[in-house]
Amino acid sequence: MTTHKPRLAIVGAGMLGLAHALAAAERGFQVDVYERDSQALGASVRNFGLGLHLGHARGEMLELARASLQRWRQLLPELGVWYKEAGSLMLACNRYEADILECFQQALGSEYGTQLMSQHQLADAGWQRESAVSALSSPHEIGFASARLIPRLSAWLQQTKDVRIHYQCAVLGIDDQVLHTAQGLVKADHILLCSGHEFRHLMPHLYADSGIRLCSLQMQELGIAPRRIAPTLLTGLSCLHYPAFRQTPQLALLAERYHTHLQQQHPAIPEHGIHLIVQQLDDPSRIIVGDTHHYADDAAIFQSAEADVILRELCSELLQTPVSAIRHWQGVYASAAQPYQVLKPQPCLTTVNMTAGIGMSVALALAAQVVESL
Ligand SMILES: Cc1cc2nc3c(=O)[nH]c(=O)nc-3n(C[C@H](O)[C@H](O)[C@H](O)COP(=O)(O)OP(=O)(O)OC[C@H]3O[C@@H](n4cnc5c(N)ncnc54)[C@H](O)[C@@H]3O)c2cc1C
Repeated sequence: MTTHKPRLAIVGAGMLGLAHALAAAERGFQVDVYERDSQALGASVRNFGLGLHLGHARGEMLELARASLQRWRQLLPELGVWYKEAGSLMLACNRYEADILECFQQALGSEYGTQLMSQHQLADAGWQRESAVSALSSPHEIGFASARLIPRLSAWLQQTKDVRIHYQCAVLGIDDQVLHTAQGLVKADHILLCSGHEFRHLMPHLYADSGIRLCSLQMQELGIAPRRIAPTLLTGLSCLHYPAFRQTPQLALLAERYHTHLQQQHPAIPEHGIHLIVQQLDDPSRIIVGDTHHYADDAAIFQSAEADVILRELCSELLQTPVSAIRHWQGVYASAAQPYQVLKPQPCLTTVNMTAGIGMSVALALAAQVVESL
C-alpha cells in the first residue's frame, strides 16, 4: 500500500526556502522548491556567512539563534563544506565603544557567555593595535562561505532528503493551492512563500501597509598580506546596529551618546549606516568586509564610492595593514521593525519574510517552528 505524503511547494531556494525544505522533509512532506534563477542569487549568497549569537535581543530571537546555531553544528559536517567555529571579537576602537562593551558585559555578559578583554589581554592574544581599547569576545559565532554553502545545501537536500528543487522555474502567480509556474501549473497541499526581498511581487495586497522596506548593503572582498584571522571581527559600531546593545536604559543611553558623537565628528559613517564586520573564510590572503545600510521602498540604484573607501580605511586601521580592493557587490534584504514576519493569508498558504539581516543565523530554527504549525 502506498502512503500519500502531503505535498509542500516552496517558492524561493534561498536560505529561508531551503531551511523550510529541510524541516518539512524531516516531518514527512514531499517537498518541491521553485526557484526563478538557475541558482540562488539573493541575500543568501551575498552575506558575511556569519552565524551570529551576540547581536540578538534576549527572548525569542536569541533562542532562535541558539537553536539554529546548534542545528548548523550538526549540519555543516554532514554537508562537508568549509566552516569555522571561532566565535567573534568585537573591538572597541574608542572610549565611546569601550563604555558600551563594558556596560554590556556587566549587565548581560554571563547570559551571552561573553568576556571583556583589556588592551593587555588583546596584545597577549596578538591584537597589538594601540587604539583598540578593549574587546568583547564571544565564543558562539560560526563562520561559513555562504556562496558555496547554499548550492551544497541544495544538492544535499535533493540527494538525501528527496527534496525536488526546480531551478529556472519562476512562480508567476498563486491561486488557492495552485502555483502558476514558468513550466506549468502545480498543485500542492500547502504553499510556502520564501521569496526574500521580492515579497511584494506575488502577493502585493498582503504587504500594502506592512511597513516593510528594502535595505541595500555594500560589501567588498579585500586582499591582505596572508594572515589567519580566526574570529569574525566587529567593532563597537555594530553596537548601534544590533538590538542586543539597546537592552538596558544605560546601554541605550550610551549608544545614543555614541551616535551623536559620530554625527558630529564622522557624519559619513551614520549617513551610510556603516558598521564594520571583517570575515575571513579559508583563504588567508582575503577578507570579506562590509557593510552599509540604505533604507528605501526599493533597492538602491547606485553604490557609494565614498562608503567603499570609508569601509576600506576602517578595515585597514583595524587590522593595521594595507588592504586592496578585489571585488564588491550589493546585497538587499527586507527590513521592518520586527525581525521576521510569518503570515497565513489562506489556510493553505504561508509567507515567511526575514525583515532583518540575520536570516543565516535564525532560519533553521524559525523554519522548524513554521513547519510544525502548518
Ligand atoms: C549584504 C548582506 C549581509 C548579510 N549578512 C548576514 C550574516 O552574516 N548573517 C546572517 O545571519 N544574515 C545575514 N544577512 C541576511 C541574510 O542573508 C538574509 O536574511 C537571508 O539570506 C534571507 O534569505 P531568503 O531566502 O529570505 O532570501 P533570498 O536569499 O533573497 O532568497 C529568495 C529567493 O527567492 C527567489 N524568488 C523570488 N521570487 C520568486 C518567484 N516568483 N519564483 C521563484 N523564485 C523566486 C529568488 O530568486 C531568491 O533566490 C545578510 C544580508 C545581506 C544582504
